Amino acid sequence: MGLLTWLDLCIFSVLMALFLYVFVYNTVTLLHKVYLIFHFLIMIWPFGQFAVGMTDNPHFQMIYTNVSFVFLSLVGFGWLLFLRFLINPAYVLRLGSFLNMLLPALIIAIGIAINPGGVYIPELNGPYTTYGPIFWFLVATHLIYCTYSVILINRAYRSEANPHYKTKIAYALIGLIVLAAFGLFDVIWNTLLASVLPAIPGVFSIGIAIAIVCFVISVHKQRSYDIVGIAKQDVIHTIAAGIIVLDGQERVVEMNRLPSPRLRVKLGKRLDMERYLHSISGTKDEESFLSAYRSNPPERAAMEIAIEQDDSILYLSLHAAPIMGDHNRIIGRVITFQDVTELRLLVDQSNEQYEAMQERNRELIQMQDKLFQANQKLEQMAVTDSLTGCFNRRYLMGRLEYEIKRNQRYRFPFSIMLFDIDFFKSVNDSYGHLIGDDVIRQTAGVVRDSLRGTDLLARYGGEEFAVYLPQTDREQADMLAERICQAVACNQVPIGKDDASVSVTISIGVLSVEGQAEHDGDSTEAYLHELFANVDEALYEAKKGGRNRIVHFP
Ligand code: GH3
Ligand code: MG
Ligand code: MG
Repeated sequence: MGLLTWLDLCIFSVLMALFLYVFVYNTVTLLHKVYLIFHFLIMIWPFGQFAVGMTDNPHFQMIYTNVSFVFLSLVGFGWLLFLRFLINPAYVLRLGSFLNMLLPALIIAIGIAINPGGVYIPELNGPYTTYGPIFWFLVATHLIYCTYSVILINRAYRSEANPHYKTKIAYALIGLIVLAAFGLFDVIWNTLLASVLPAIPGVFSIGIAIAIVCFVISVHKQRSYDIVGIAKQDVIHTIAAGIIVLDGQERVVEMNRLPSPRLRVKLGKRLDMERYLHSISGTKDEESFLSAYRSNPPERAAMEIAIEQDDSILYLSLHAAPIMGDHNRIIGRVITFQDVTELRLLVDQSNEQYEAMQERNRELIQMQDKLFQANQKLEQMAVTDSLTGCFNRRYLMGRLEYEIKRNQRYRFPFSIMLFDIDFFKSVNDSYGHLIGDDVIRQTAGVVRDSLRGTDLLARYGGEEFAVYLPQTDREQADMLAERICQAVACNQVPIGKDDASVSVTISIGVLSVEGQAEHDGDSTEAYLHELFANVDEALYEAKKGGRNRIVHFP
């Protein structure tokens, strides 16, 4: 038993230790499980070589060699499986690709185990012996596994920008090259050239040891990804929203518990968004969402869906966002479903409240408008005489208090007239009160027509009227009084019997104040009172003087 036999044992021990390291010091994810399968398959080789070296019994040597080669033939499969998960930890293994990976290796493994007609080893001749066609088939298959792996690694390396990821892949590639190089060297040296060169045992085992160290480093590099990955998994599975992650072919690669009612999806199956949305009735914005979803995947698409449940409606906010890879390439999508029922109800409620408030506001504005108009009418009524439409006496006196103060301050002249219909009692007596009212109304109208816009006509009492004439001196006031007298005398008031009519005359008392300074002592009220007493006296004089005339005070 040579030293190299112990080397095989040492390598086996190192591999076992690494096996345990990967097992103990890593959170065992799916990648680790797959890796451990590969590690276990390859670990058997140095152990088998050691076992062959430990015995001189050809029968046992044959058994150990067979076992070693059976496991070795499965290494290519184990490696490819591991590589798939190393490149893409979210890789979904389907039965078809699993069988594609396994079958070549399995056929060879069965061939080696059965060794029909010595097609694997025609005769046993120590650890290095002559090999039959199956052995060469094994070598060729492993070369194909290797070539395919290099293609996969190259593609993954190019499509990913993350330097950690690239290092991880690079270590896997180095390990693969080392393994292939040592394997080929072993085959060429110890088999093809066995007749001319002395055998070097343990070469492939050394290659395995070096390669495995590279693979362990590669798996270790994945560890930081794992922590983030686990955290992401935690987030996905604890978040209060439904999440589905789709790959480029719209297949589900990740999802949390039931993302949405009535949505039947499974890992690895295609998500048919159109069919799902059609299964939910009464969903608005569906067409625009679907067209964005179908024709423009880089665009984020969002819509609200309503799902009728037993006695309520569930509102979900549905979002579809692209997952961008290298060079802005879309490598998948994230679909989220968020329950917005409470929010929707709140929005509906506040909309209703807003509508009701708007309605109340409109009613209030209408009421305010009516009130304003009523107020205006009231104000108008408060200052107007209902029979003639002139101002009433209360308004006149209030207004005059202000006007007089102003006139005195600026020494503006002004005049006041007081007129009374002559012999009005007889009009009433002859034609009745209604005609009397007409006479009063028309007389006021005739006078109003003779005045300027700034003059103020007010019913002073009964058939007696007062006129305030601002900026009017004695001469102008007398002229105006004259005109009024004539206009009234000319006015015919129909008495309702054929074309018969009646006319009246008026007597006018006039008083003018011209640029008089502000009076001391007396209040404006008393002054006003005095003015009216004087103009009343003038009117009295006019009556006494025969009526239908004007008397100016003094
Ligand atoms: P004089 O020329 O002295 O003024 O004689 P007169 O008959 O007009 O006497 P006076 O001015 O004192 O009479 C006023 C009358 O006017 C008394 C009242 O019956 C009548 N009168 C007062 N207000 C109204 C009214 O609103 N409508 C009617 N139809 N008559 C009124
Ligand atoms: Mg009178
Ligand atoms: Mg009178």
